[in-house]
Amino acid sequence: MDEMIPSQLHRLDAKDVVEQLGSDIHTGLDLEEVETRRARFGPNTITSARGQSEWMRLLLQFHQPLIYILMVAAIVTASLQEWIDSGVIFGVVLVNALIGYIQESKAAKALEALAQTTVTEARVLREGTVRLIPSEKLVPGDVILLQSGDKVPADIRLFRARDLQIDESALTGESVPVSKLTAPLPDETPLADRKNLAYSSSLVTYGQGQGVVYATGGATEVGRISDLISKADALETPLTQKLAKFSHILLFIILVLSGLTFAVGMLRGDSTVVDMFMAAVALAVGAIPEGLPAAVTITLAIGVNRMARRRAIIRKLPAVETLGSTNVICSDKTGTLTVNQMTVRQIWAGNARYDVSGDGYDPQGEFAAIDSIPLEDNEAARDCLLTGLLCNDATLIQEDEQWHVEGDPTEGALLVSAGKGGKGLRTLADAYARLDSLPFESQHQYMASLHEAAGQRRLLLVKGAVEVLLAKSTAMRLADGKTVPIDPAQVQRHFDEMAAQGLRVLAMGMAEVDASLSEIRHEDVKDLTFVGLQGMIDPPRQEVIHAVAACHRAGIQVKMITGDHAKTAESIAEKIGIIGPADPNSNAPRVLTAADLADRTDEQLQSDAKSVSVFARVTPEQKLRLVRALQADRSVIAMTGDGVNDAPALKQADIGIAMGMGGTEVAKEAADMILTDDNFATIQAAVEEGRGVFDNLTKFIAWTLPTNIGEGLVILAAVFVGTALPILPVQILWINMTTAVLLGLMLAFEPKEPDIMDRPPRDPNEPILTLDIMLRILTVGILLLVGAFGAFQWATANVNMSEDAARTVAVNVFVVVEMFYLYNCRSLTKSVWRVGLFTNHWLTLGVLTMIVLQLAFTYAPFMNLAFHSEPIGLDAWWRILLTGVAAYVIVEVEKWVRRILERRKAARG
Ligand code: ADP
Ligand code: MG
Repeated sequence: MDEMIPSQLHRLDAKDVVEQLGSDIHTGLDLEEVETRRARFGPNTITSARGQSEWMRLLLQFHQPLIYILMVAAIVTASLQEWIDSGVIFGVVLVNALIGYIQESKAAKALEALAQTTVTEARVLREGTVRLIPSEKLVPGDVILLQSGDKVPADIRLFRARDLQIDESALTGESVPVSKLTAPLPDETPLADRKNLAYSSSLVTYGQGQGVVYATGGATEVGRISDLISKADALETPLTQKLAKFSHILLFIILVLSGLTFAVGMLRGDSTVVDMFMAAVALAVGAIPEGLPAAVTITLAIGVNRMARRRAIIRKLPAVETLGSTNVICSDKTGTLTVNQMTVRQIWAGNARYDVSGDGYDPQGEFAAIDSIPLEDNEAARDCLLTGLLCNDATLIQEDEQWHVEGDPTEGALLVSAGKGGKGLRTLADAYARLDSLPFESQHQYMASLHEAAGQRRLLLVKGAVEVLLAKSTAMRLADGKTVPIDPAQVQRHFDEMAAQGLRVLAMGMAEVDASLSEIRHEDVKDLTFVGLQGMIDPPRQEVIHAVAACHRAGIQVKMITGDHAKTAESIAEKIGIIGPADPNSNAPRVLTAADLADRTDEQLQSDAKSVSVFARVTPEQKLRLVRALQADRSVIAMTGDGVNDAPALKQADIGIAMGMGGTEVAKEAADMILTDDNFATIQAAVEEGRGVFDNLTKFIAWTLPTNIGEGLVILAAVFVGTALPILPVQILWINMTTAVLLGLMLAFEPKEPDIMDRPPRDPNEPILTLDIMLRILTVGILLLVGAFGAFQWATANVNMSEDAARTVAVNVFVVVEMFYLYNCRSLTKSVWRVGLFTNHWLTLGVLTMIVLQLAFTYAPFMNLAFHSEPIGLDAWWRILLTGVAAYVIVEVEKWVRRILERRKAARG
């Protein structure tokens, strides 16, 4: 192929562009050519320039108030020629930044890797057949078919556009979709107005189109600007933001306190400026919980990985937090609650009913006539099957003896029933060439196709929801081929009978149209002759029955929101346990339909949305209205969706969930989470993981804050009492760094508590730290003060230890109490013994490592030199251990009392 000059693309006739690109509108490229081009142009992926952002990430580790304080401290100590202290502080700053950088990169990488696990597929014409391939494998010259819901996979020159509208906001920021066309445009047309081009990464929101790829990967418009698309705040969530804000306020208070400490010390007059400066630094270093936001991010990232293992891909980090407090899940029916493997079981046509045997998509089975009209003699039934066969975009494929569907399972089932219904049908079908089609879209609830038969006859075939077909049909075909005026009530009766069994029912109709019609628009679909109904089963997923029960136990409401008919929806909802069996004494509505919703005011809807669990024939706009109604009540809503028009509802919901297999790219783009197996049970699993993550976050925060409080108080006390510092700044750095990584972080690996789905959802308005936990944090903080300060005083006053040895005791008190308290924190309410002492291997490993490090801190000469520590004797260790045990027992007793109080409260009311 020749090199294309991009400026010519929009100017030339589409045919010339295709020709210049060495391709063919009708057959596409051949596979050999594809290989050559792939070697030449590489994969159709965008590699973002990330080198710079890695550096930035490392540099940003130094951009923290605490680091600035430490740098000043290092410089001051250096100017005093305290080389070792200065070196240690510098070292800590470096190690700290490095650890932060590694952890953050890991979290970011994990998230990035997940983003790539969802591959986009493109419909491409090669060697005359249309196939679905990963977008990554496209090359220039490929002929692409676009339809609503698709993501444009590369830069394309369009040669066919059928009401085609594309949302280019990813490129231009403009969210109003652009209408596309195919005609050549004037030379000077600016990029954004070249309506005969479709750009990679934009989203097809309406219509259909075809075009030829002229640029892939980095050569596309979006590829060129990809470095500009910022990923900066990908790691931020409302919680980390709140914590960062909290840290900043705290920082301010602590700086004031530090200043005060300095002033008080100077006023007392018995210490030097340097001593007081070091005390102020120690206070700042100890009391600022600087690692908090990072630890939260890491915990969230671990949660993301756990969810991915259970087939829920998180697209937006805040969703991990929100999932834990979800209290309403609104789910689609087809494919999410059901297996989405359709088999036609009943047909009603020409006033006769047939039961269809056979399983799955294997076209082997029999029609049993219930009303003694043999299938062969029923012309309406033949038309009904023929419509199902022709007004269809799916294909049946046999692979290793197994039959499966490529395309919509609903349509696959219709191919199978046609296959069972007669040998002659296929040959008949071959005589009808398809000229055009309107694909199924949930807002219209039907599909239509236009065919040309012998003798220039043109036939419009329509299949869809029974209401739509009834509204558009004027006549009905009988078994003998005659047509009579339609009796809607009669059709409705047979429909109801099928739907009440949980069958998904499609109605079929056809019309002879003018021979001049070559493209169908929605207006053309009218004056149909109704030919029959086909009812298919779609069994509920077995695992969903358990998942729904688990949600109910966990205080989460499950609602079905479906485009299907009320009767079908009700029957399936009952089988799955979303609603109980009908109560003849109650006249409260069990199912609301689109018509019911339209009648209601927003206020009425708010109360109905709460009490009703099944919503049928719901349009995407009504989904949005429902989400809003539910949210008025401060509920946290997870909502599934798969179509283009579901995007607004997915964005509005607290957690928008898209389907990885059956969903459109538009829905995926709008979603916070993607289910790779389209299964409702996966949502329940994700909620469970979300609760676990939130638990672990709370545990981490509850564990980490007492250390900061304790360290701050020890320094304040020393300055106000006027004694030497019980712990030095470098020692505080040692404690904070080692324990945060080796002890605290291990709480992120805590397994979920077994009763996690037996309690009600967390109230999203409740603060992370409840009063109970705050009191516990304060208690432990004061225990640390008393323990460490007391130990220091005891060691210097009674045992005549050197100051360095006494400090070593105080440091060990801190670390040992934190270690015991770590086990307290493994459950916020239960005792560790209920959780199992060794169920978190990471934590055990962390504790063991910490013990080794602490022994080194106390006994290794180079550590003694670096951290001013000194070996201590066995009697000191006994006291240290006793303090740890005491702290542990106090917290456990407090938990125990709380449990009793809780139980009393529960018993009373
Ligand atoms: P859901 O996914 O909630 O079951 P859909 O929006 O897929 O709902 O379907 C709603 C209705 O649209 C179905 O009850 C059926 O009557 C009709 N329908 C579904 N799929 C097709 C299709 N491929 N062609 C024509 N009509 C369809
Ligand atoms: Mg559907």
